[in-house]
This record gives sequence, C-alpha cells and structure tokens, in this order.
Amino acid sequence: MTKTISGGCKCGAIRYLGVASDVTAFRCYCRDCQRLTGTGHSDMFPLVAETFQLVGPFSEYQMTGGSGRSTWSVFCPTCGSPLTRRSERMAHCVYVHAASLDQPEVYVPSRSIYTEAAQPWDAPNPDH
Ligand SMILES: [Zn+2]
Ligand SMILES: [Zn+2]
Repeated sequence: MTKTISGGCKCGAIRYLGVASDVTAFRCYCRDCQRLTGTGHSDMFPLVAETFQLVGPFSEYQMTGGSGRSTWSVFCPTCGSPLTRRSERMAHCVYVHAASLDQPEVYVPSRSIYTEAAQPWDAPNPDH
C-alpha cells in the first residue's frame, strides 16, 4: 500500500507531497543537523524521491556532508522553516523534517545516528 504524505512550512508559502518510503526514519544528532534545526537533533521522515513534489518559492543550501558527498537543505525564505534534506549518497529518498508534516504523528523514529555529538540537554533515547 502506498501512502501519500503531505506537509509544508509555517507560513504556508511552501507545500510538498510524496509517497512514504520504507527506508529507516532516523533521528540525527550531528552538528550540521543541530545548526540547521536550531535544536539538539533532526527528525527526518523519508519519502520516495521520484514521487516528491514541492510547490512554492523555496531556498536551497548545498553543503558537503560527513561522507564528503553533497547534501542539500531546503527551507522557506519567508518563515525560515526547514523542510527537506537530500543527499547524493541517498539519492532515492527525500527526507522531510518530521514536524513539517501535516500529520507529524506518522513519524516513528527507529534509529538515532551521530549520538556521540548529542548535547547534554538533548540526550538520545536509549531505545533507538
Ligand atoms: Zn514559510
Ligand atoms: Zn545530521
């Protein structure tokens, strides 16, 4: 069964939709995610890249990830909400920030990564 997932930014200028991917939904504690979200970690929900559509005047920031390959972060230039991450390494997925989903409760984190970079005020969940 395919499940279409939708979401958008705080101000409503950007909307997106796509089919949920069955790859792992993860929580990342790396310093890049901390800086990009302004908090202790990112919660990323995977969508199938070829089904992904985003409408609205977005901004995109390219950087080099820990693997040395490019990653792209999409955000709203008006309200600043972080929306998506994609990378050369995981080209078949677009990860959306879980809180930008219309139904954020569909996100179930099953794995935490880069937990060694976690801040003392945002301790990783020992269950994943
Ligand atoms: Zn916005
Ligand atoms: Zn990260």
